[in-house]
Amino acid sequence: MRPLLLVLPILLVACQDGAPSTAEDGSSPAPVPPSLTEGVWLKGDLHLHSHHSSDATSPLPVLIRAAEAVGMDYFIATDHDNHVEGDVAGHTWADPDYRSDSMLMLYGAEWTTHRGHGNTISASPYDHQSFYDIRDALDTEIGAVAERLGFHLSACHPAGGDAWSFSYDFADGLEVWNSAIWSTNSGAMVVWDDLLKSGRRLTGRGGSDAHHGPTGGDPSAWTYNTLQGFANYIGTPTTWVYARERSAAAVVEALDAGRVAVSANPNAERVELRADTDGDGEMDRMMGDDAVADGQPVTFRVDLVGGTQGLLPLYQVRVVKDGAEFGSFPVVGRSLEFTDTPVAGQRSYYRVEVSGLPSAYFMAPLSSLLSTGTIGLSNPIYFGFHPRG
Ligand SMILES: [Zn+2]
Ligand SMILES: [Zn+2]
Repeated sequence: MRPLLLVLPILLVACQDGAPSTAEDGSSPAPVPPSLTEGVWLKGDLHLHSHHSSDATSPLPVLIRAAEAVGMDYFIATDHDNHVEGDVAGHTWADPDYRSDSMLMLYGAEWTTHRGHGNTISASPYDHQSFYDIRDALDTEIGAVAERLGFHLSACHPAGGDAWSFSYDFADGLEVWNSAIWSTNSGAMVVWDDLLKSGRRLTGRGGSDAHHGPTGGDPSAWTYNTLQGFANYIGTPTTWVYARERSAAAVVEALDAGRVAVSANPNAERVELRADTDGDGEMDRMMGDDAVADGQPVTFRVDLVGGTQGLLPLYQVRVVKDGAEFGSFPVVGRSLEFTDTPVAGQRSYYRVEVSGLPSAYFMAPLSSLLSTGTIGLSNPIYFGFHPRG
């Protein structure tokens, strides 16, 4: 849920700048976005199962050591809450191994219900039991409890088995990239675009949903006990957030704000999408941000950061505008700029999908072979959208 604390500073900044509270046509102005330059990119996997899920074999300490080994900045185990009758606080979170010296620890679970699955993501422990207990209630009641508990709630595998069939009006986002196999996500992308076209600013994120991987004691004794662990393990895909600081609270705020990109693995390129909406030559919006369409051309910029393509990287950048392909552009190098004029007074959004050579990833060495070439995607930049609920 979008924390009030995040909204208040934005309103204060708007007042200090003398910005009007409503535009002349009566509509609300786009909120002033947080800084585009003073944040930090943080990466992790938002959908992981440890041995506290009865259908998973990944020992929690091995999962955490593996995440540390590949340089993750934040960690969350989203174990099935129904496997412990809702008591994730007494199992996953209470496990003395649920700690890291190098990663920010988040708290959540896979809310596993008859009407689909959703991941809760919180900066601190909360009363998950009360959310589990109302899983069969009416959506209005569930929405009120979710709002009170204050976590980021993200629908899982929304077009696959156990797809989300609750209202999206109490969700903050959805898992548009589930597992290492990109081609299985086309249905999720349709769901996402339909929600975006309806004016809902839902954050798209990734999640490996890995249940299996190395087992054993120290890293020197790790063995893979299933083929699946070679292909889909922590980081396939990886979700990047642009956080105002390196803290668990800032990770959740960035998820709420949609300042999020997804890459095929932790070594793959991070996609950054920004826009110059006022024509002054400076980028003033990034993915997740909203702007007012005033009938003037907007310059968009895509940057591809990191990856293992070497000195002459080649990419194909597909730009999606309002659910349809705006263009597909070959890119030699690491940047692309394009221009368009969002229609004044209308709602529109732009997001990008990037394909290219896969980056090698030793922790799940077969994962790169399973992708059909998509290596990253952005969240949208919005024009004239509703405030987030
Ligand atoms: Zn699930
Ligand atoms: Zn799962």
